[in-house]
Amino acid sequence: MTESACRECHNIIDGQICPKCGSNSTSKNWTGYVIIIDPKKSEIGKKMNIDLVGKYAIKVR
Ligand SMILES: [Zn+2]
Repeated sequence: MTESACRECHNIIDGQICPKCGSNSTSKNWTGYVIIIDPKKSEIGKKMNIDLVGKYAIKVR
């Protein structure tokens, strides 16, 4: 199974539509990911503008 990443919020998802932002702009062409457990304390989370717990792709093409 290949997961897709949302181009809008970088959320990694199984389907075609991102449940987080509702975007259907997803890509299977992504590299690297971070798991955000505590968005408020995460430097990466702040940098990527993430405010929800989850798994996020670092680069989405
Ligand atoms: Zn999204």
